[in-house]
Amino acid sequence: MNSGYTCNTHIRHDLRTPLNHLIGYTEMLQEDLPPACANLLDDRLNRLLNDAHRMLDTINRPTPLPVGHFDALFPDWREKMALLEMDFHALSTTIEQHWQDACPDIEKIRSAVGHLRALLENLSARPAVDLSETESTPRTGSPSTTPVADGHILIIDDRTENLELMQRRLMKEGYRVTLANTGQDALARLETDTFDVVMLDWLMPDMSGAEVLAKIRSKFSQHELPVIVVTARHGSDMIVDALTQGANDYLAKPLDFPEARARLATQVYLRKVTQQLAEANRQLKQFSYIDGLTAIANRRKFDEYLLTTWRRAQQEGAPVSLILLDVDFFKRYNDTLGHEAGDQALMRVAKAISTGLFRVKDLAARYGGEEFAVILPETALEDALGVAERLREQIQSLNLPHPAGTEAGVVTASLGVSEWRPTAFCEPSALISLADKGLYQAKSAGRNRVGTLGGNYPG
Ligand code: GH3
Ligand code: MG
Ligand code: MG
Repeated sequence: MNSGYTCNTHIRHDLRTPLNHLIGYTEMLQEDLPPACANLLDDRLNRLLNDAHRMLDTINRPTPLPVGHFDALFPDWREKMALLEMDFHALSTTIEQHWQDACPDIEKIRSAVGHLRALLENLSARPAVDLSETESTPRTGSPSTTPVADGHILIIDDRTENLELMQRRLMKEGYRVTLANTGQDALARLETDTFDVVMLDWLMPDMSGAEVLAKIRSKFSQHELPVIVVTARHGSDMIVDALTQGANDYLAKPLDFPEARARLATQVYLRKVTQQLAEANRQLKQFSYIDGLTAIANRRKFDEYLLTTWRRAQQEGAPVSLILLDVDFFKRYNDTLGHEAGDQALMRVAKAISTGLFRVKDLAARYGGEEFAVILPETALEDALGVAERLREQIQSLNLPHPAGTEAGVVTASLGVSEWRPTAFCEPSALISLADKGLYQAKSAGRNRVGTLGGNYPG
């Protein structure tokens, strides 16, 4: 990128800024007028808009001359400027005559016209200017749709007029808009509020758009907070820079409002859909951890939770206890009362187990068939035996009649308990196999009881 390019891009940008404000405020004035005034002013407003667009076309027009005196490249600027001033004068006097209240938009247009004249005077006094870089012209005022947009937009721009124009137009669409005229201000607002999309000016004094973007991306991913970069200059380098540094999209200044609105709506929509997808995934994952019959954790959840508990215990040197619980003579229960009654009984047993646990860290899971398991993190054998005994009592006291041969005459369960203080190289299967041995012991000793082979305390 040579200095001529940079210089000329700046000149184009400088000229377009007041013209864009002029057009923006005039369009808004046109949109906001009550119908009676609109008839009266339409002609004058359209004339001003047409002449402003003609001026914009000239600024954007490619010229074969690489370098030249500004007046040579833009010979009729004085006529064009005079026309604009005349249009404006006609508009403002009509408004003053018919409109008693102050009209802030007219003041904004007045200041844009003055700003443009001052810039042109200044440029024409300078020797060499090249306006050969080509750019497209914004379309003239397109009708805005009914306000249906929903979202909170943070606009970051160092120019108050840019902020205000965008704010007013987006608010008309239905958006909630927050403004920041420095990167620091924007970052402070991101700390305290939530936004759906950020519109970020790339060229700003103090903190640049690139720096602001880097800070945003250190906290929010592209899915969490879309950023549309607003680039004052065209040229793929800057766009590529912005996109590779984490921008979701870009817009070129002067902003073509229909384009800005469409790109913004796309980002708001994408963010919403991504959030819904993430929530659906979270729910799906939750479901994938739940046993279909008993609605407690399933075997997959058991395996994952045991492993995380185990790893943490390895680091902290904490004990892990496990209870394996098997319903007694359940085949007979099914055979006499039917599979459906069996299912009902399993649901009652699962509920008794989960309500019999009081710590959030403890996990009850269906281990398979009529077997359940309870993981007790940071629990020593003695306490685990107490929990197991409580669960055994709770199941018996459900008082579910068992017609086929248990000593108690009701549904009971046998439980095996183990404890392990895992060292670096042992795996949780050791804990399971020890609890299984305890369960076998309980079964062989007559069922409806708790069995254990004790704990393992290495070292
Ligand atoms: P033990 O006291 O030795 O544990 O005897 P048991 O009959 O409970 O043991 P066994 O392993 O012989 O039988 C388990 C029975 O559990 C067999 C199976 O029909 C029943 N069962 C396993 N899963 C389900 C289920 O989801 N629903 C129903 N209704 N029954 C199940
Ligand atoms: Mg069994
Ligand atoms: Mg059984």
